[in-house]
Amino acid sequence: MTTRVLVTGAGGFIGHHLVNYLVDKGYWVRGADIKEPEYEPTRAHEFMLLDLRRWENCQQAVEGIDEVYHLAADMGGIGYISSVHADIARNDILINTHMLEAARLAGVQRFLFSSSACVYPDYRQEDADVVALKEEFAHPAAPEEGYGWEKLFTEKLCQYYYEDYGMETRVARFHNVYGPLGTYDGGKEKAPAAISRKIALANQIDEIEIWGDGQQTRSFMYVDDCVEGVHRLMHSDIRQPLNLGTEELVTINQLVDMIAEIAGKKITKRHDLSKPQGVRGRNSDNTLIRELLGWEPKTPLVEGLRPTYTWIEGELQRAGRIPAPVAMIADGD
Ligand code: NAD
Repeated sequence: MTTRVLVTGAGGFIGHHLVNYLVDKGYWVRGADIKEPEYEPTRAHEFMLLDLRRWENCQQAVEGIDEVYHLAADMGGIGYISSVHADIARNDILINTHMLEAARLAGVQRFLFSSSACVYPDYRQEDADVVALKEEFAHPAAPEEGYGWEKLFTEKLCQYYYEDYGMETRVARFHNVYGPLGTYDGGKEKAPAAISRKIALANQIDEIEIWGDGQQTRSFMYVDDCVEGVHRLMHSDIRQPLNLGTEELVTINQLVDMIAEIAGKKITKRHDLSKPQGVRGRNSDNTLIRELLGWEPKTPLVEGLRPTYTWIEGELQRAGRIPAPVAMIADGD
């Protein structure tokens, strides 16, 4: 019989890609979100517009479902998560606790929770020259305020739901996911999308604003790797939280240079030290995922940035914010 899966957050960036991936794999897919996907229609067999903070909506979402990929969350880039703590923590705790309990009561067989590298303590991320984050470093806990605490607590809840009720739970700690169809404007966008937008909007030789001194380091995972990784993790027997990211560490300045090169523009950076820059350095340690899953995200950053930049540039052209390319009409013979 066809496995029936629910993707929460299916109106969002990763959820939308995951729906496509699972439909292509032959699953029957229900999407649920408080909003429809922004940039293209969903391919889910069924899509429910639901506010998952509400208990009865979570019960509706899980009805008849075998596996839940739980991605819905109030979240955003560093500007958003560093300034909004109460709303994020309250909204996400309501969503996560209700989703877990509704899934248990409905007899869901497997439940995957999308956690985050924001669960790792600040004291492990104070140097741009990082020691990559091993899963065990999450404790003693000192995660990102608001968003990180909510993720860490829900990780624990997943553990308790397995221990007390035998529900198979999986936890993936995503590290900076990027790709086409991700938010690129409006305050919730992440660094690769924000920088792509700024460069696409810039003239051929121009200056763009960078948050912080640009020496802060990160690794970034292409969205195709992310959805493949959660699917693999879901069907593994790994119950402990697992990093899902790459080990390709770059400074934000290097990220800017890579995108500028893809765009073919000569960009100068103006660093604004008053803007939030998050932890100083963060990288994924993939020892455990290699060992337990025998797989890890592989797409090199420059390869994933190309389609991401092209998509954002196309969106800005469609919105009339930058000139569309002039169509070349071939001379007749
Ligand atoms: P996203 O914001 O594009 O998707 C989240 C979706 O959740 C949105 O479509 C939103 O409408 C939905 N949502 C929010 N509140 C809701 C509610 N009350 N009811 C129903 N739906 C609601 O973000 P994303 O990048 O696709 O992230 C997906 C998951 O991955 C989230 O749990 C996020 O915390 C996690 N994550 C993402 C990254 C990343 O780099 N993108 C990194 C770490 C963790």
